[in-house]
Amino acid sequence: MKQMFIGGRWIDARDGRSLPVVAPADGEAFEQIARGGAHEVDLAVAAARAALDGPWGRLNPTERGRLLMKIGQAVADHEEELARLEARDTGKPMSTARNDIKVLARYFEFYGSAADKVHGETIPFLAGHQVSLLREPLGVTAHIIPWNYPAQMLGRTVAPALAMGNAVVLKPAEDTSLSALRVAELAAGAGLPDGVLNVVTGLGEEAGAALAGHPGINFISFTGSNEVGTLVQQAAARNAVKCVLELGGKSPQIVFDDVDLERAVPIIVRAIVQNAGQTCTAGSRLLVQRSAYERVLGRVAEAYAKVRVGTPEMDLDCGPVMNPAQQRRVQRYIDQARASGVPVLAEGSVADGAPPTGYYVRPTLFGPVPRDHALACEEVFGPVLAALPFDDEADAIRLANGTDYGLLAAVWTENAGRLVRVAKAVHAGQVFMNCYGAGGGVELPFGGTKRSGHGREKGLLALEEVSTTKTLVHFHG
Ligand code: NAD
Repeated sequence: MKQMFIGGRWIDARDGRSLPVVAPADGEAFEQIARGGAHEVDLAVAAARAALDGPWGRLNPTERGRLLMKIGQAVADHEEELARLEARDTGKPMSTARNDIKVLARYFEFYGSAADKVHGETIPFLAGHQVSLLREPLGVTAHIIPWNYPAQMLGRTVAPALAMGNAVVLKPAEDTSLSALRVAELAAGAGLPDGVLNVVTGLGEEAGAALAGHPGINFISFTGSNEVGTLVQQAAARNAVKCVLELGGKSPQIVFDDVDLERAVPIIVRAIVQNAGQTCTAGSRLLVQRSAYERVLGRVAEAYAKVRVGTPEMDLDCGPVMNPAQQRRVQRYIDQARASGVPVLAEGSVADGAPPTGYYVRPTLFGPVPRDHALACEEVFGPVLAALPFDDEADAIRLANGTDYGLLAAVWTENAGRLVRVAKAVHAGQVFMNCYGAGGGVELPFGGTKRSGHGREKGLLALEEVSTTKTLVHFHG
């Protein structure tokens, strides 16, 4: 049984309730976590506030940065242990889990080294006055994260908040809380003062809702579904609290007829299959110029048919999906598309030996998908790729921008002018040209437009989101 980490102490839920932790690879309940709620959120917010009023609030940025880098080092020193935990908890292949832990360590390194490089400004003003702008922490920051990349999401949202001197209350997803609890323990071991990083585990509608609506928080970073993101923003609005939303996507991979197919095909397939399609930036729409449609789809189908799904230890292209609800949802999209007559161009396979009790789905490539079909517009969050033909550049842009989402896009062409024109015209927070950085680098500002959310994480821009400015006006005569 894993307890919650609040104010530097391990505690049970007040009413003693817990939740099972189930491994998606075999359906086994292998651990329990505490089912925290409003009471534990109260404790965590109070602990964070006390930390801000204590030594943490007085630490200078260089020392804060050093502490973050020590946490990053502790994560790196425990890479194998954390990767195994993450792989058991999420079902993802071991090599993906190892990479996730490397990225987690990198977030702490990146933001640790940035902590003392955030400078203020001076502003010309009236004669006899000196004006300066200070950057200050927001205070108690709340972070609600999803289950697809638990370790990476923690690093992405928590590390910049700590770098700017905030105190954090983190609510990991109920399906995947184990890495967050272990990282909190490692951070405490690295010297992070009590109350600076609190982890409240529990259900979204209990612990998550209590945190989002808590009057004691000063900021919310939410990563997850659009439905819950809307609720979180409403809760934030009730307390007039700033909120960053990182929501879903239906990212287009736009392929023109002069594409370098050799290079593009493996990247296009990986962009959707990675993490069993459970990636907000999954390249789930393959838009292909009609003149090259047969040629491109032939090659993509060939690669798609080779995709293999298995347990973390098998370390294949991807693992199972997260839970039975997710399995049913993805399978429903596949079944409905088949039933409505959308052609299946290729299917991957589930490896022999993958336990039948696990939540496996066969990766499926559909095309041509009608433009108004659910598969062309809605986020499936599974290894399902929808191919659609387009006529010319203008049609490609219209089609790419024809969903409610705007998270990421990729453009594939050897024509340099077209590459830039299309990249500028598509609605997305990140555009990759002749590459696809699902997840991207820690250094690169990331976030959505339209219904994919607002605000930026990653890169140095994230530091602006988790801080505020104070303008000092000094009359010196
Ligand atoms: P989800 O919205 O169901 O859950 C996300 C988190 O919110 C969990 O911690 C959950 O416990 C919590 N939550 C649930 N109900 C809540 C409530 N009423 N109040 C407060 N918190 C609540 O999302 P999910 O199913 O875990 O993740 C999948 C979604 O996340 C997909 O839509 C995906 O695209 C999106 N996502 C976006 C990004 C991004 O960076 N844009 C990254 C990863 C995932």
